[in-house]
Amino acid sequence: MALKTVGLFPLRLPGHPEHQGRLRAVMSALERALPELHQDVTPVVPESADPALTELVHSSGHVERVRAACERAIETGQILRLDPDTPVSPGSWDAALAAAGCGVAAVDAVLAGEYRAAFCVVRPPGHHATRDRAMGFCLFNSIALAARHALTRPGIERVLIVDWDVHHGNGTQDIFYEDPSVFFLSMHQHPLFPGTGPAHERGRGAGEGTTLNLPMPAGLAPQRYVDTLLDGLDDALDRFAPDLTLVSAGFDAGAEDPLGGFTLTEADFAALAHEVVERTRPTSRNRVVSFLEGGYNPDELGRNVVSHLKVLRDATA
Ligand SMILES: [Zn+2]
Repeated sequence: MALKTVGLFPLRLPGHPEHQGRLRAVMSALERALPELHQDVTPVVPESADPALTELVHSSGHVERVRAACERAIETGQILRLDPDTPVSPGSWDAALAAAGCGVAAVDAVLAGEYRAAFCVVRPPGHHATRDRAMGFCLFNSIALAARHALTRPGIERVLIVDWDVHHGNGTQDIFYEDPSVFFLSMHQHPLFPGTGPAHERGRGAGEGTTLNLPMPAGLAPQRYVDTLLDGLDDALDRFAPDLTLVSAGFDAGAEDPLGGFTLTEADFAALAHEVVERTRPTSRNRVVSFLEGGYNPDELGRNVVSHLKVLRDATA
């Protein structure tokens, strides 16, 4: 199994929850866990995506808007905002392309059989970025790009995306809403940012039935969330046989996260990851690529990522 990682970027916007301390916490938690993990986990720093590759899922206008804002941030040394939640710093262009490239490289490595599974330790997150818009801290939709890229590979005709971030992955839904080759399954807190993802949104046209939204209130017992997502997964797998499974692993669904009201513990996230690998195995054959999305309590995030890697390692053994 490969651990995918990218560099850290130096600017921090005071008070913004999506800051470089998140990845620092993850990397130091991984270092502490290394004696247990290093036999099985290979850290890899993949190449950044070519900006043109992001047009597999984004409009050229979107890519140019992000580029222009990032260039201006670099020229001025200032932090600019693409929307009220979504700042760009002089490091954002490189970070977003590194995250996008990481997912593509991880898919290639897993499909080639080079690694059993991969986890992309990336920021900024991506699942709120729509075809045409940066939002919710997200510039490019890395998991959507990885899915679209996977579909260009021989033998990959259907990709399942399981999104357990506490926020609805509206960008991923937007990109694949009419696409029957990608099943998007999301459990998310409702009401909460971005306010999308009601149960009646189930895809459109040829993609009718390949979106499944599970909006849930905050503050339930953790088993309710685990059972709901796994029931949704079974429902999805009754109708859709994925050749590859991708996970938007948002650890902001954790009990100690400052941005969400879900109550999941390390053991609950472990159960989810284990069951996703197990239940998709008949057709995905252990080919699982997971992406860090949210997770804004750095200590909790570090613990959950270490546990997630152990589960991916053990479940795909
Ligand atoms: Zn989130």
